[in-house]
Amino acid sequence: MIKRLPDDVVKKISAGEVIENPASCVRELVENSLDAGSTNIKVKLQGGGIDLIEVSDNGCGIPKDEIKLAVERFTTSKISNFDDLKNLKTLGFRGEALYAISQVSLLTIRSNVTDNFEDGWECSFEGGKLNFEGPYSHPRGTTVIVKDLFYNIPVRRKFLMSKREESKRVLNELIMYALWHYNVAFTFQDEEELILELNPGDFGSRVVELLGQDFVEKSLFLSYEDKYMKISGFVSKPETLSITRYLKQIVLLNGRGIKSDQVKKAVFRAYDNPTGNPSFVFRIEISPEFVDFNIHPQKKEVKISTYLRFTEKLTKIITERITNYQSELGASIHVSSLNLVSTPHNQRIHKDAQQLELGEMFPQSQDILPKVEEKGPGANLWQAHNSFIFAQTSSGIMIVDQHAAHERIIYDKLKKRNFSIQSLLFPILVPLTSKEKLMIESYSEILSSFGFEFRYLDENSLVIDKVPSIFKNISREEIKELLDSLDETPELPARLDLFLKTVACKAAVKFGDALSKEEMSTLIDELFTTENPFNCPHGRPTIYFISLEELKSRFER
Ligand code: ADP
Ligand code: MG
Repeated sequence: MIKRLPDDVVKKISAGEVIENPASCVRELVENSLDAGSTNIKVKLQGGGIDLIEVSDNGCGIPKDEIKLAVERFTTSKISNFDDLKNLKTLGFRGEALYAISQVSLLTIRSNVTDNFEDGWECSFEGGKLNFEGPYSHPRGTTVIVKDLFYNIPVRRKFLMSKREESKRVLNELIMYALWHYNVAFTFQDEEELILELNPGDFGSRVVELLGQDFVEKSLFLSYEDKYMKISGFVSKPETLSITRYLKQIVLLNGRGIKSDQVKKAVFRAYDNPTGNPSFVFRIEISPEFVDFNIHPQKKEVKISTYLRFTEKLTKIITERITNYQSELGASIHVSSLNLVSTPHNQRIHKDAQQLELGEMFPQSQDILPKVEEKGPGANLWQAHNSFIFAQTSSGIMIVDQHAAHERIIYDKLKKRNFSIQSLLFPILVPLTSKEKLMIESYSEILSSFGFEFRYLDENSLVIDKVPSIFKNISREEIKELLDSLDETPELPARLDLFLKTVACKAAVKFGDALSKEEMSTLIDELFTTENPFNCPHGRPTIYFISLEELKSRFER
């Protein structure tokens, strides 16, 4: 049988949609304080906000005869008609929050619109009904006190987490507002403990205060502005992805923190093949007519008009910032390896000999080497365990995985067809299985386009005469493995890519190969001319960076 629900049940249900827990209550109250133009907001909790939430501000205040009105449903001072919605400048507008809170708690509001303390007024409500009002001394501004949240909805109480967890949620909410409204002072007191005490500052200093110096050091700052939007924020430096332990992924849009898979995807796309998860904090301002907060009861999700092509733009902005950083970093390493005592003449001769030995290993290096030559190439470089290169940069130390880095260099050269072809002094004879014969037939064009020249000796064996010059030497087994890689993935683009990765892997210097200073220097220079110096083609990191700051803190300096 269908029955109409009693009025008070309906009220509680709809109040529960807006107020879910102490954090959502704090969110509404802080938004009201911000809308009232406050420059100082104080939040206090007892019992995780279940026993008591108190938010006081120094905003415009509520006239004493309007306090009761403010608590009624759909009463707001912020919009008066439907058109106002399109150009909303305030966080609230539905006139629901105070009403909803009053339905599920014991609510007291004290407020004053003048500078005379004695003009203050207090109203208290139980389950939405006014049960007391009278004068109450209060400075200009408003204090809202919420006691015994969900006292009349025991089921809701059961869904709350421990007091500690609820306080943590409140703190996380406050961090969002504080990050956006950096010119507002915030304090947060949980029981007797003062957790936040933030003075007005700028965005950067708030980020340092709330997310830590370490976060900022591992991040790149970016900012962007056009006719419709303004973005500023911090994103992880690409080389820190796999080492950052605590992820911070914060999106602030038009005044509040939001959840946004859209933004997450846009960030992810900007890192080519990331090995970890990037951290970020974005402060995004978009003209209100392009943003719809009204799709979620707690305004945690938003719809951004597709007209703005927002995600594409965001990806582009981040990509550009990363690229820019890579060339800066490349330059800083180059500079520091040049900043050295000049080398005696005999080292130059030695270098030329090395160059000959190296043969075509680094065919591109000629245009870089002469510059390095004058000051002594790679004197700031050091190889450990014949596997890792240590380099001093202008702001710390960089450790390079020599194999992964060389793979990246070769892979990029292959893709850009930036290599020459060398004749093998001793052509390699490769016996073929019948499957391999078939493969050679279908891929002969690809193979020859990458510099492999071969002929059939007889029906079952192939002679390789020429290979791309990226190989220092190549064995029969390696040729076999290259052929096999062509067989592994079905679709052509992926197959070709795997083939190039395999070639890069086979041709790259190995772990255990001793490198001269010149070879190391060339390797690093070349690495920073590639498209993505931070990852090898398989996606593994090539570089691990330790900042001077981090080193100092390790030694407690
Ligand atoms: P909304 O914020 O959507 O307008 P609320 O129920 O949150 O609705 O608040 C109702 C009204 O009460 C607001 O429009 C505002 O006029 C007034 N108000 C609430 N909190 C404050 C405050 N801290 N300072 C000044 N005015 C307030
Ligand atoms: Mg409000």
